[in-house]
Amino acid sequence: MQANSMKDRVAVVTGGARGIGREIVRELVSGGATVVAVDIRADLMADLAANVNAAPGQVDCRAQDVTDSDGFTKLIDDVVEKYGRLDVMVNNAGITRDGLLVTMEDANWELVLKVNLTSAFFGTRAAGKHMMRARSGSIINMASYSGVCGNRGQANYAASKAGLIGLTKTTAKELASRNVRCNAVAPGFIKTEMTDAIPQQAKDIALSMIPLKKMGLPQDIARAVAFLACDDSAYITGQVLSVDGGMHM
Ligand code: NDP
Repeated sequence: MQANSMKDRVAVVTGGARGIGREIVRELVSGGATVVAVDIRADLMADLAANVNAAPGQVDCRAQDVTDSDGFTKLIDDVVEKYGRLDVMVNNAGITRDGLLVTMEDANWELVLKVNLTSAFFGTRAAGKHMMRARSGSIINMASYSGVCGNRGQANYAASKAGLIGLTKTTAKELASRNVRCNAVAPGFIKTEMTDAIPQQAKDIALSMIPLKKMGLPQDIARAVAFLACDDSAYITGQVLSVDGGMHM
């Protein structure tokens, strides 16, 4: 993104230590933002700070489980106290626990809903309060092709991502009068450690469904998030932006 398009802005990105989240952190920092990267992976924070922290922006790494309502809410309050503002909230942390619906264990249903959907509610509630007061803000939720179209073997994941789309549209309607926007990005098949774990046969099937005939890169998602974060998208709210090589069509 352009070097100064996020100058003086403060963003929180969950799941920011690796994969798509890390690229979002990098993209917003390159636009001049102060980015608070939140992740459960404390072991990756030193590398993140060393490699993504670059002028004109800066990165502030925080180890935090986003399913901990009190801890995550306090973190967001701390960010506002430290930097005096919060302009962008990216609810990106997510996990998969795939399996066929009829044999899916309760624990795997509940965990995926908690990490992917409930944490975004915590983040949106905490950030939304500050943004409404400031009469400005952009909240971005990381949905998925699976949440838009459904996906075999992902009942828990697809439900969590479809839930995020409902949360996005409701947040957009509730907060619009205070100039706070909320949108979702729905990635398709993106090359990260999450998808590296998928067996080759399943990857081949997914690739055959993508009109552009290739996997996406984390940068493809990061650029879409950066667009929704900055003023270029000032009149866009309540949208689900599919970034999937045409897979959803
Ligand atoms: P990664 O697994 O590569 O990165 C996600 C990061 O979030 C990891 O560091 C992970 O830690 C962290 N995390 C998990 N649980 C928590 C938690 N409770 N609190 C804080 N941090 C946590 O995922 P991707 O980059 O591939 O995906 C990012 C987002 O994009 C997710 O929401 C995913 O569902 C979505 N998405 C990804 C697609 C893809 O093709 N990759 C496609 C569609 C959507 P840990 O290593 O411990 O899990």
